[in-house]
Amino acid sequence: MENKINEQTGAAFTISKNQYLKIIDPKGGQVSDLVFFSEKDKKEKISAGKTMDFEESILITKGNYLWSNRGRKLMEVIEDTNGRNDILLAPCSPETFQIMYEVETYHPSCFENLYKNLAPFGISPDDVPTAFNVFMNVQFSEEGKLSVLPPTSKAGDYLIVKALDDLIIGLTACSAEDSNGGTFKPIHYEILNSI
Ligand SMILES: [Zn+2]
Repeated sequence: MENKINEQTGAAFTISKNQYLKIIDPKGGQVSDLVFFSEKDKKEKISAGKTMDFEESILITKGNYLWSNRGRKLMEVIEDTNGRNDILLAPCSPETFQIMYEVETYHPSCFENLYKNLAPFGISPDDVPTAFNVFMNVQFSEEGKLSVLPPTSKAGDYLIVKALDDLIIGLTACSAEDSNGGTFKPIHYEILNSI
């Protein structure tokens, strides 16, 4: 069954070891932030730093693993039809919009959509780590300057990760204008027992 995350919202749910999570960009050009925690001990969670360290790359795609803060593989990227994702940048947050967009009023954010949906699982705002930003197109110059460009994903592009342990998942349809080419679209996802 395909589940829908409406634009500028999020969801949280559990998946079991050896199940697959398919994250779909139904309209194209939409980022989805993915975070996850070990169900057995929620202090163990995705680590962007460990993932870049052990995968020896800042571009995570098919064939790469997503590692925990305890140096354990928690997910494997099985398929990635778009092929461009980011693991450098933190989930967009109220401060993102104050500091980078100079927005003074309320603005939805991945950070809020993650911690609010994860709260029933006993996860607090301070527990939310740097996400694996599926479909996010962050480019970098030789000098290290970062630029956020519109995603290259087309309608129907998807990424499949395999859970290597029982996990609590947080997933969003990103709320940041620059990350999504200036428009906000939904994200769909499916939990599969086999692919
Ligand atoms: Zn976001």
